[in-house]
Amino acid sequence: MQGFFEENALVAVQTTQPLDRLLDYRAPEGGCHQGAFVEVPLGPRKVIGVVWGPGRGDFDYSKIRQVIRVLDVAPMREEMRAFLERAGAYTLTPMNAMLRLATRAPGLGDPPSMQKIYRLGEGEPPRMTDARRRVLDTCREVGGLSLTLKELAEAAGVTTSVVKGLVKSGAVREEQTPRDTAFAMLDPDHGGKALTEDQQAAAQVLQKGQASHAYNTVLLKGVTGSGKTEVYLEAVAEALRQGRQALVLLPEIALTAEFLTRIEARFGAKPAEWHSGVTMTERRRVWRMIAQGQAQVVVGARSALFLPFQRLGLVVVDEEHDTSYKQDDGVLYNARDMAVLRASILGAQVVLASATPSLESWNNAEAGKYQRVILASRYGPAVLPEMRAIDMRREDLPSNRWISPSLKHAVTARMQRQEQSLLFINRRGYAPVTLCRACGQQIGCDDCDARMVEHRFLKRLVCHQCGESKPMPETCPSCGAEDRLAPVGPGVERLAEEAQELFPDARIAVLSSDLYGTARELKGQIEAIAAGAADIIIGTQLVAKGHNFPLLTLVGVIDADLGLQGSDLRAAERTFQLMRQVAGRAGRSEKPGQALLQTFQPEHPVIRAILAGDEEAFWKAELDERRSATMPPFGRLAGVILSGEDAAKVFDLGNHLARHDAPLRRVGATIYGPAPAPIARVRGRHRVRLLIKAPKDVMLQRALAEWAGQVQLKGDLRMSIDIDPQSFF
Ligand code: ADP
Ligand code: ZN
Repeated sequence: MQGFFEENALVAVQTTQPLDRLLDYRAPEGGCHQGAFVEVPLGPRKVIGVVWGPGRGDFDYSKIRQVIRVLDVAPMREEMRAFLERAGAYTLTPMNAMLRLATRAPGLGDPPSMQKIYRLGEGEPPRMTDARRRVLDTCREVGGLSLTLKELAEAAGVTTSVVKGLVKSGAVREEQTPRDTAFAMLDPDHGGKALTEDQQAAAQVLQKGQASHAYNTVLLKGVTGSGKTEVYLEAVAEALRQGRQALVLLPEIALTAEFLTRIEARFGAKPAEWHSGVTMTERRRVWRMIAQGQAQVVVGARSALFLPFQRLGLVVVDEEHDTSYKQDDGVLYNARDMAVLRASILGAQVVLASATPSLESWNNAEAGKYQRVILASRYGPAVLPEMRAIDMRREDLPSNRWISPSLKHAVTARMQRQEQSLLFINRRGYAPVTLCRACGQQIGCDDCDARMVEHRFLKRLVCHQCGESKPMPETCPSCGAEDRLAPVGPGVERLAEEAQELFPDARIAVLSSDLYGTARELKGQIEAIAAGAADIIIGTQLVAKGHNFPLLTLVGVIDADLGLQGSDLRAAERTFQLMRQVAGRAGRSEKPGQALLQTFQPEHPVIRAILAGDEEAFWKAELDERRSATMPPFGRLAGVILSGEDAAKVFDLGNHLARHDAPLRRVGATIYGPAPAPIARVRGRHRVRLLIKAPKDVMLQRALAEWAGQVQLKGDLRMSIDIDPQSFF
């Protein structure tokens, strides 16, 4: 049980305001619990905070102000406070920013909002009509249930004024109830599938871990379509049986709708949903119901990790390798790692599901920190696609064309069999570069060090860095020449154009996130394609994630080399994962699939490992390379980005920090840089990067905090520290 503070006792309150300390207050009338959400005066304002513990009392008591009131929400649990503190310490994030993550519910300070409901009253109305009788009958039929005005009128097939008339006479009763209603109970035994032997064994491992109520992490690895979802739903079922809550994190909100339907089929009711597409009213309801233990399962984006679960027993991180789990603005955290942290504090279970786990998770499993469960084969008759390279050095292809004769041949064969093909290119827009043939200039963004990408669909040039866009110019912005601007290189839109020329009779669908206004539109398109509305699908990374196209039997990867070029530590790992995922789209039902990779370097070790389907070999090679370079997971990295409007000042700061490296040297860490960040200018701000490399087992965060604390950031200079950076942007 958490502590209780009597009225006027000193309490320390953590607010979401940018202050680097707790503030002392006197407990309100009636006292308050530790963890209580409260409203406190701060200067002339009222702000929201959490009672963190006893006050320090190092301040004149007579000047200490009183907590205004305790909010009508469940107090923050001790476990949650510990989680926020440890996550904040790990990511070097101040507590006010951590608390903000945990209070992302609208209207926290509002009184519970009410709504009117209607049920059977007493007596009969003075004049009975058909419509009135239907309303009363409906009330009787639903028994104890109470309906809103709209629901009742609709169910009875009358206008709302008929109901209101009945309220006047007392035959129908109008009552006020809280608007935030509990979620329907889920039934763990509602609609389970008969599992295969492999799946059964895997499910048992998860269920045992779940029933233990002790912290454990399981890496659930299995090819796409092997039934990982079916298996981890058994862990969810076990959590339900144990009276615990479960959270399922998905990397992409476009996947949620399909998933909700699946949960409903499995457990008989819809779970709670938490992501940016959820309405404010619903968010408010979800947050409150989770805190009261009246939402059993939540499906959501990474920010759902900070919801106030009352007895969380399970966190599933689906597609755990996905880079979108790493938050890259605001608080820099990796949802996968934070899930493990939260579970370890709670004594809960984490299931990391993936066909192509991250190197870190794979290594943790090898080292015995995580349990490993493998589903080796696809469910049912589906088999893994055959993979082959198309050696582009041997294909006869003009320089502004990207579909090789071999690939064309394969697509044609699919069309004749009424099967679908997917052409994959991981680049949005029409062309990545627009070049002036007169002066040789490439059109760049005014505010960033990035080239503008032509989006023909939007008829604009778009900066993929800052999102700025401008109309496609008629003349060259540098030399003024007319009609000399030419697109260079392919994007998904240009590929669609080429495909339309090559296959004039084909129905072609383009799947790229920027072509759809809303997630619903996108979902509709995906469903139509799955039902056979297209012969050829042209898609970006979006299609790699979890969608199921039963008629798809061919995947053509336009440029398998694209991901191999970056200087990024994770380039090989990413390419490997992406290619495997894309290839996994083919042949998911009865028909066998094939994946063709267009490449100029078929001997590249990554391409060879992909083709051979030899994951173990790939991971081993990658791990060896990282071990010899003492790179993660064998060493530690932190990325530091300094930015400001004046390039010279930013560099000065970088040099100053690099010289004053004693706190880092003491723990054996080395600084690299300052150097211009790979994207050296974004939104008009110059960016300089320092990279810090340290041995694995040092207290890097403490050293970093001391090191960074040596400087005061003046003017518009900013510093952001990214622990375990995913990409070196
Ligand atoms: P993964 O998550 O590994 O990609 P899924 O769990 O989505 O795989 O399974 C792929 C498809 O096979 C789904 O449509 C799923 O319902 C079906 N499936 C998997 N296992 C079974 C089973 N034991 N019985 C019936 N259908 C199954
Ligand atoms: Zn820009």
